[in-house]
Amino acid sequence: MGFHMQIIIALLLGLKRNVHIFIGLILGVLVGWKLPQTNFPQVYNVLNFIGEGFINIIQMVVLPLVTSAIIIGISNIGDSKQLTKFGSKMLLYYGIITIAAVSIACATAILLQPGVSAKGLINSEVASHIQEYVNNAIQYQKENLTQIFMDIIPKNPFEALASGKMIPIILFTSIFAIALTRAGEISRPLVSFFESIFAATMKVTDWIMYLAAPGIFALTATAVGSFGIEVFTNISKYVLAFCIAIAIQFFIVYPLMLKIFSKVPVGKLFGAISEAIMVAFGTASSSATLPLTITCCEKRGISNRVCSFVLPLGATLNMDGTAIMQTIAVIFLTQMYGIELTPLLIIEISLLAIVASSTSAGIPGAGLITIALVLNGIGLTPEQLVIGFSLLFTLERFVDMFRTILNVTSDTVVAAIIADNENELDYELLCGKPIEQKV
Ligand code: ASP
Repeated sequence: MGFHMQIIIALLLGLKRNVHIFIGLILGVLVGWKLPQTNFPQVYNVLNFIGEGFINIIQMVVLPLVTSAIIIGISNIGDSKQLTKFGSKMLLYYGIITIAAVSIACATAILLQPGVSAKGLINSEVASHIQEYVNNAIQYQKENLTQIFMDIIPKNPFEALASGKMIPIILFTSIFAIALTRAGEISRPLVSFFESIFAATMKVTDWIMYLAAPGIFALTATAVGSFGIEVFTNISKYVLAFCIAIAIQFFIVYPLMLKIFSKVPVGKLFGAISEAIMVAFGTASSSATLPLTITCCEKRGISNRVCSFVLPLGATLNMDGTAIMQTIAVIFLTQMYGIELTPLLIIEISLLAIVASSTSAGIPGAGLITIALVLNGIGLTPEQLVIGFSLLFTLERFVDMFRTILNVTSDTVVAAIIADNENELDYELLCGKPIEQKV
């Protein structure tokens, strides 16, 4: 190996891990762009293998992590008054942040009218049938909502664990953890057991992160390499509306939330979670990113009490990016199929997107599956809108990567605010120096 090469390798190895991941990401974009999948199928077989392997291995720790984190989180908070305070704050902030997301999504989709340019793809007979279905919506919606609430209750918690159904698992674990705290001293050995599981899963996560750079490289290259530039023509406005909405949420709403409800410096927080943001982008999975999200937040001063309570719940329930995508996508479909977009319909779509996004698992593509719930709510099924849906699918991975960044970031914003409010944030760790207290 030449001397220059040795220097380059030494320099690369000396860089921080998030720089490695960033280089992987940029190289992934370049490879995907320069080597289209159709021309180099063999290369993509290898890249797929590496990328999927990385997602699988990182997901391996998610279940033990979520269950142990919730049990530790709830038992650390201890008395029920504190728990109610933490829980209600969490729901309040998650609520505000998601309502802001959906409102921004509605505004951008209504202003930009992304579906109108794709209207030509739909014949008028199909469009009038679709309108009929929408008119018969209410009954259908009621039936589905009841079913969703029933599905949240795990009849068999072990079955829910085995099939990785996150919301039922969280419900069961939370009830179990509250019971453990009420049981008092006798539950201490079991809580210690979960503390050991948590510590071990965090260690495994640290090891897994050595694979992050090649994993993110492979995932990004596969995503970029699979969509040709031509798909942009019919859905460019949809992508534009989506990008504007997520940019507003990321650069305006999150900093505003931090400023209004806490004294957390936004730059420091975003810097602290930069590794998690890149992994969220590469994996398009907030569950898979969760171990790293927790590590980043704890390393930079958010207490374990807050992280282990707020982040696992957020990774499952708080999905701003998904809610934005679902709102814009459904409005895109209604415009494309010429459905009359009344104010009532817009409100319905927004509320349904909030519910549907929080039932989405934190895995790639989940949001485009639970979007069926929003459509069912307004009387439609994805099969009826097959042309529109296939358009949405063309850039799904790309949209997914960006919405997952939001899903992860908004959890950390809420965790930081709660940590600040409850004196659970070490500002020296976050900022590198003590911060002056607001009076
Ligand atoms: N991929 C997203 C996540 O993991 C979920 C979605 O598909 O919207 O957060």
